[in-house]
Amino acid sequence: MRLPSQCAVCRSWPSQRLCQACLSRFASPRPRCARCALVLTVGAGQSGCPQCQGQSWPLDACFAAVDYAYPWSDLLTRFKFQKQTGYADLFAQLLLRDLAVGPCLAALNPEDWLLPLPLSPQRLAERGFNQAWELAQALHLQSRSPAASHARLLLRLRHTEAQSRLPRQDRLANVRGAFLVDPLMARQVQGRQVVLIDDVMTSGASLASAAQALRQAGAASVRAIVVARTPA
Ligand SMILES: [Zn+2]
Ligand SMILES: [Zn+2]
Repeated sequence: MRLPSQCAVCRSWPSQRLCQACLSRFASPRPRCARCALVLTVGAGQSGCPQCQGQSWPLDACFAAVDYAYPWSDLLTRFKFQKQTGYADLFAQLLLRDLAVGPCLAALNPEDWLLPLPLSPQRLAERGFNQAWELAQALHLQSRSPAASHARLLLRLRHTEAQSRLPRQDRLANVRGAFLVDPLMARQVQGRQVVLIDDVMTSGASLASAAQALRQAGAASVRAIVVARTPA
């Protein structure tokens, strides 16, 4: 039996963790760029958003459930900075409403990888947990994906300056070379499909840099799944 619970957004009671009214108010699906997950404006073609056109981009695809805005920004902050790991289940549920996410995870093979975007050892020590790992675990469970997940296959070598304060070009330079596939596990990446998981995608520079490291290690494809995408 499921116990009734309050909606995490409007506090209506009894409810699911997210009530139907809040889901339709704040999480109605919107057409997004398949490469960078920005919301597409009316009339945009299938080839992607204007920001992506003509740009080289190491991710094969990127999914986001919602824009980084109210109420998800508040819930994501609680999740990340107040260590409320229970939110991982709720965000996984939100992601799996996207018709592309479940099939993408279900179609992976047991040799493929579901990898959280890692934190630097310094930040992991400060925060005490990696929110992306909690998310990856929740998504793995709820989607019943046959792929394996691993917290330390991909390493984050350095702590990078807060990305939001830097212009786009500098963000890319800031994270270049920040990620490395553990040399002891590199063979297990060759020819495999990888899905990177993170909570928020701002410029996408960190995900792109991580994807680059995976491609250099021989990954056959690298896609990303994030809960929220910062609007352009
Ligand atoms: Zn609600
Ligand atoms: Zn795009």
